[in-house]
Amino acid sequence: MTCAIVILVVDALRSSYVSEDKTPFLAEQASKGLHVKSLIPGHGFCERTEILVGKSMEDSGFFSALKYAPQESPYRAIHPLILKILQVFESFSPRLVRKVLRRIIWEVISRARLGFAPLNVPISELKFFALAEDGAGSLIRHDPDSIYSIARDRGLVVNDAAFTSMNNRLSGGDNERLELALEAVTSASNITLVYLSDCDKYGHKYGPENPLFHTKLREIDNKIRQFVKRVGADCGQIDFVIIGDHGMTEIRDVIDIESVVKGAMSGLSRGKDYISFVDSTVGKVWLHSENARKKATAIIEDCNSLGDAVACRKKEELGGVFARGEYGDILMFASPGVLFSPDSFNSAGENLQGMHGYDPGVCADMHGTLIAWGPSFTSNDVESLSLHAVHGIIKEIMI
Ligand SMILES: [Zn+2]
Repeated sequence: MTCAIVILVVDALRSSYVSEDKTPFLAEQASKGLHVKSLIPGHGFCERTEILVGKSMEDSGFFSALKYAPQESPYRAIHPLILKILQVFESFSPRLVRKVLRRIIWEVISRARLGFAPLNVPISELKFFALAEDGAGSLIRHDPDSIYSIARDRGLVVNDAAFTSMNNRLSGGDNERLELALEAVTSASNITLVYLSDCDKYGHKYGPENPLFHTKLREIDNKIRQFVKRVGADCGQIDFVIIGDHGMTEIRDVIDIESVVKGAMSGLSRGKDYISFVDSTVGKVWLHSENARKKATAIIEDCNSLGDAVACRKKEELGGVFARGEYGDILMFASPGVLFSPDSFNSAGENLQGMHGYDPGVCADMHGTLIAWGPSFTSNDVESLSLHAVHGIIKEIMI
């Protein structure tokens, strides 16, 4: 019988980071416990559903953080005319005013059910979008196979105060969340979920091969070492599960895909004839008028002219999770190392050096890793596993 389970999701802890020189503590734990060297996520951005519900992108239907679902959008609560006026006001405002305006919108909408930040999306287009894995149909909260449901059925307490979700603010930085987690483990929590963001943050900032990033990585490794030591001092029998949910790769090229779309749709009105949403590695276009549908081939041709940097596909061609059009009528996938900027999360000029979100089937840098030790684990090396299979490992030790 273990005292508790501590699950640390270390955002973007790449498979190849785990080594004696880069992460001495994690490497040592990997040699003692279960080490899944390559943890392979789906191509989408909904890793928490994979981990906590055990469903792949194909099974859950969730691809990215937001989906096209006007009927579910929290921004429906704001009159479209007000959104339009705010957008016009924003377009004439200096950068600082724009920032404050978006902050106010987030303050208002975060009080609405399933609200999400306005990001870098045109204000009048926010009404088309709703949260996907954290939204009304969230499997994390409602699926009987979710770790939350299983814990409830087994009478176990889950504490996620130090975890993350798109409809909540993050509780401070990594240090604050580790303190919150320490409090949780030493109180009544049976399963403590912790999210550490620095590995992702500095991987984006410096790029995964940069010595400055390697310094940060050693700091993160040491932070986990200290946390484990402190938790262990208060509560001996603990299963620790460290999950690197995906990897990171160096950026070698930047494409303004928004401008490519705009060029292909010239003469049409954005917001009326079509809308678009750009993740850092996937561009999506929804065609709202017959004129826009006629120009669909122009987008595909313009993307093809970029060579192998971008693969452009229609939803019908992709099928599966894409067939319903929640993730675009036309999708543009960046090849590994190609960044779409600006995107719907960041404005231009962020100068990022690392990115993820590429097809893990062709880019091994996208593979994460898993290291687990404690009373439920013996020393065992596993070459590779799908990210959604982590759910089975957690379920097994929830006794
Ligand atoms: Zn990231």
